[in-house]
Amino acid sequence: MPEINQETDAKSPMIECHDLWKIFGSNSDKAMAAVKNQGLSKLEVRDSFNCVVGVQNASFTVNEGEIFCIMGLSGSGKSTLIRHINRLIEPTHGTVKIDGQDINKLNARELRQLRAEKIGMVFQSMALMPHRTVRENVAFSLEVRGIDKKERDEVADRAIDAVDLNGWDMKYPDELSGGMQQRVGLARAIAADPAILLMDEPFSALDPLIRRQLQDKFMALSAEMKKTTLFITHDLDEAIRIGDRIAIMKDGVIVQIGTPEEIVTAPADDYVADFVAGISKLELITAQKVMEPVSTYESRNGPIKEEKFPEAAPTDNLDTLVDISIDTNHPIIVKGSDGRPTGIVTKHALLRGIQGRIEEDEA
Ligand code: ADP
Ligand code: MG
Repeated sequence: MPEINQETDAKSPMIECHDLWKIFGSNSDKAMAAVKNQGLSKLEVRDSFNCVVGVQNASFTVNEGEIFCIMGLSGSGKSTLIRHINRLIEPTHGTVKIDGQDINKLNARELRQLRAEKIGMVFQSMALMPHRTVRENVAFSLEVRGIDKKERDEVADRAIDAVDLNGWDMKYPDELSGGMQQRVGLARAIAADPAILLMDEPFSALDPLIRRQLQDKFMALSAEMKKTTLFITHDLDEAIRIGDRIAIMKDGVIVQIGTPEEIVTAPADDYVADFVAGISKLELITAQKVMEPVSTYESRNGPIKEEKFPEAAPTDNLDTLVDISIDTNHPIIVKGSDGRPTGIVTKHALLRGIQGRIEEDEA
């Protein structure tokens, strides 16, 4: 491949976790050694060393501009994992790199700088400062950095505008609803203009409707501002709506990493399959996932009839394919951007796709 293509295609890693472990307890180093040398399980670590394995052997990369979700049940280690990314806690073993820099090698001053300039955090409960107005809360990080009042008010007002809270800038936190307070938290994080946003269940405490609105708001902002986001949730629906990729955690272990479509169509184990069972496949699964090669179709049915078969694009989702197929008994031809047939979606494959049962092609 010519070098220029590699450059344009290359994704640059913004967050890299490698073989990350967190074992809680005063014997954590001994427990870690025993895990490494004798392969002790989580239960054995608890019984032999009185330690809790919070995160176990986590490795993943979040690329620049990506929204990477970590999903798992309560207690699966999500918060423990995310706290390593800005070094609120130190790993028992393993490395975290931000923009290529090993953050466990930073001194106290460098770490403060990293947190102030590169990383913003949004939590489930924003802990806004009660005696400060919305605008003063949003501008706080700029104040800490010594930026003058005129400039920080301008920046704060833009952030308040971005989360649709215009007119609320002079109110105090207790005059706002829970959803609005989370918006202030989001505005506070983006006012500091960090390259990376760490979000630990930011919308989990909100009512479903408000939550959906905030998800939409966040996705629009994220696309516009091109932040790299690590987003934690215990809700697979939320992870699927928001995430470019999703890591699924169970008992401190990342059991699967993939795009929403990959997770839903090929769950790695029963735990993931249970989560996925209740998810609607209509918007997630695309034509390219359920189509078969033209030659395979033709070997069963004879030549395709291009003038009769309806057409779809490889990225059309099942919902669209249903619309296309509803008034015809013919299969759908999937055509690439060059207008040439790249596959066929039969009604059989479409219905199986809706069930989430993708037939593997026998290559
Ligand atoms: P989640 O965010 O997915 O709900 P956590 O990361 O909070 O999960 O917790 C993962 C595991 O680590 C749990 O078993 C929890 O009890 C344990 N844990 C978290 N923090 C500590 C701590 N400071 N000391 C001991 N155990 C902890
Ligand atoms: Mg948590």
